[in-house]
Amino acid sequence: MKPNTPILPPAMLGILGGGQLGRMFTVAAKTMGYVVTVLDPDPNAPAAEFADRHLCAAFDDEAALNELAQCVAVTTEFENVNADAMRFLAQHTVVSPSGDCVAIAQNRIQEKAWIQKAGLQTAPYQAICQAEDISAASAALLPGILKTATLGYDGKGQIRVKTLDELKAAFAEHGGVDCVLEKMVDLRGEISVIVCRLDSDNVQTFDPAENIHENGILAYSIVPARLPQDIQLQARQMAQRLADELDYVGVLAVEMFVVGDTHELVVNEIAPRPHNSGHHTLDACAADQFQQQVRLMCGLPPADTRLLSACCMANILGDVWQEDGGEPDWLPLQSDASSFLHLYGKKAARKGRKMGHFVTLAADADAAFQKAAALHGKL
Ligand code: ATP
Ligand code: MG
Repeated sequence: MKPNTPILPPAMLGILGGGQLGRMFTVAAKTMGYVVTVLDPDPNAPAAEFADRHLCAAFDDEAALNELAQCVAVTTEFENVNADAMRFLAQHTVVSPSGDCVAIAQNRIQEKAWIQKAGLQTAPYQAICQAEDISAASAALLPGILKTATLGYDGKGQIRVKTLDELKAAFAEHGGVDCVLEKMVDLRGEISVIVCRLDSDNVQTFDPAENIHENGILAYSIVPARLPQDIQLQARQMAQRLADELDYVGVLAVEMFVVGDTHELVVNEIAPRPHNSGHHTLDACAADQFQQQVRLMCGLPPADTRLLSACCMANILGDVWQEDGGEPDWLPLQSDASSFLHLYGKKAARKGRKMGHFVTLAADADAAFQKAAALHGKL
């Protein structure tokens, strides 16, 4: 839902979730002069450092939700929040994106069916909710990936399978929870498009980001994506179509696979929030994705999404910290005039944990990627 009249500073804004996305949202909102309340059960939540108020409670804590409902508008930083919590808040204040939009992104089975209904392609798939669902039809989807329908992120909850026996074993390994079997597609690349939408007259998309994963986790996002212009335009149109279909209010990320020689675009999944692949917007675009999130929840039109420089965003995982918790060597990165470090203030560095990122600007996408990879190697 969008507010009836624009919400202006110093109104109080709320966010469900205080991780790195919540932190960058909070910084953007505070910079514009809003007051921010964050709900997150972690006493060390990254957003708490900047927020005016940290409600340290569970996401379904009634008293905390009632407090959050005092905010003039509320948004979320992640889709695994209870959609019911969003719906509860919506009875008391302006909530965007809507609980319904969040619910679609929570379940891969619903999400894929909905994407196809919107007229876009997904990888061929089958819902597997009980062992009996594994049939001759499943064989046509092999080799494939068995993904849990809910709560997957950073490649967690995924098992690659080549045979029906492996599929059966993988389903058992997932504990018999609802799953999706997806055919492995001939992946030539991965891109994502971030849509900023207030209503049908006020929609902007950021340039598609080309995403490179390592061990199932996003490692680099390169912008502009090294893909033909017509494919990039098509990607932006597809993402906007999904946002329109949802009558979406807020920031929506759409992940796509680039498939085969023809660069066919297949939608992988959507995220009803700013996205890791949009962190470059903080340093390389006229407006960044968190400023957009603030504007849109406040009923203001999206700001200029223009890319000001070719760039590459590199994630910094806990892996680069020393065994004893010692900091990586930040000097090469911090000495570089066209690279910008963002750390999330997380206390404990664990393998695979996203601790921060940096953005490198350069003359073109290739140069930005090469330089970012070289700097990352020195951490
Ligand atoms: P994230 O949180 O990074 O989005 P996730 O856990 O939601 O990850 P997916 O996006 O579904 O998982 O898949 C993770 C990665 O696995 C993809 O980015 C892609 O590299 C690969 N992958 C997933 N599905 C397929 C497929 N059908 N064919 C080929 N590769 C795939
Ligand atoms: Mg994904």
